[in-house]
Amino acid sequence: MRVWIEQDYCTGDALCEDLCPAVFEMGDDGLAHVKGQSAGLEDGLPAVSVPEDLEEVVREAEAQCAGECIHVGT
Ligand code: SF4
Repeated sequence: MRVWIEQDYCTGDALCEDLCPAVFEMGDDGLAHVKGQSAGLEDGLPAVSVPEDLEEVVREAEAQCAGECIHVGT
């Protein structure tokens, strides 16, 4: 599974980082970014691979994201 963030819609509430700091981190720009093993670009945005044991919590972050800007795909 891969995950990426559409920063244009990020509210900066840091919920994703709180839920899964291994995959999400807040940047100096006040917006969330993905971290970890690069898995190319998705719609021009950097995507990372999600370790299997973190897939559930990443999906939870996707579901709870206020900006609806966390995206997951294969
Ligand atoms: S949960 Fe969504 S809106 Fe909140 S910081 Fe993370 S990406 Fe941004």
